[in-house]
Amino acid sequence: MMQGRLMAAMLLAVVLWGGSALAATPLKVVTSFSILGDMVANVGGDKIEVITLVGPDGDAHVYEPSPADAKKVSSANLVVVNGLGFEGWLERLVKASGYKGKIVVVSEGVKPRAMGKADHAEEEAKGHAKEHHDAKGHDHEHGYNDAHHNSHDHGDVDPHAWQSLTNAKIYVKNIAKALAEVDPANASAYQQAEDAYLGELEALDTWAKAQFAQIPEQKRRMITSHDAFGYLGETYGLQILAPMGVSTASEPSAGGLKKLIEQINRENVTAVFVENISDPRLIEQIAKESKVRVEGELYSDALSSKDGSAPTYISMFRSNVGKIIAAMKQ
Ligand SMILES: [Zn+2]
Repeated sequence: MMQGRLMAAMLLAVVLWGGSALAATPLKVVTSFSILGDMVANVGGDKIEVITLVGPDGDAHVYEPSPADAKKVSSANLVVVNGLGFEGWLERLVKASGYKGKIVVVSEGVKPRAMGKADHAEEEAKGHAKEHHDAKGHDHEHGYNDAHHNSHDHGDVDPHAWQSLTNAKIYVKNIAKALAEVDPANASAYQQAEDAYLGELEALDTWAKAQFAQIPEQKRRMITSHDAFGYLGETYGLQILAPMGVSTASEPSAGGLKKLIEQINRENVTAVFVENISDPRLIEQIAKESKVRVEGELYSDALSSKDGSAPTYISMFRSNVGKIIAAMKQ
């Protein structure tokens, strides 16, 4: 009798356990790169599992997806991408995976930044990039090739929209909307998390504005290897010089570099940075030849690893602004 009741209780426990585990099965959300991964995690909380393709310190510009990535995409309930030509490899990956679900482009609604024509060094770098891609493009199938060409030759928009907090808020709204659509049962949880996160971004923006307000206009110039901070520059009135243009796939010409070095000397630029995703040697060479010091590493297209100083979008932004301000104050 006792044994029977015990058995029944155990059975009940197993059923309840199984039931609750089923109800709590998190939504699988695949994101293209680490910055989106963190934003999605902030909105989705424990209702979702985030799977990120290009991880910390990774370069999404030149990423080559693996068969394991196709498997991740095929098992997704939602796929979240940046858009603006950033993930040139994505279309082919989705096709290969057989994924038929929703793909949310988080930059939808962002005012895209057209590529600047003002900076000569950048123009030369871009001219070189075009040649480079045309030569290389023959090795690839059409989808890949076209995507690359869109981002460099014709479209000419800057994909790094996440470097503006105004845009980050648009990203977060698009993420929350997509999660609620795919998982309406948890819509109110997503809404709450969205509101809280938007509040944090607002506070961060207020802080950043106050930081840049301390810097005189003629000091608001900086150098990074590839042109990833244009949206940040637009927001806070910074002039950004980048020898590589908007993609890390291009290399600057010797003439472009010479002009950049002359400009650094003429305008007394002190804020010179390497990036966590790209080879530091180009910037180190520029710094050496222009006799300036490299002021540290900015997080351009990826977060740091968990134990680094920028494992989240907010810590990344704060870290970047802090380093830029310190360098410009010199
Ligand atoms: Zn980039």
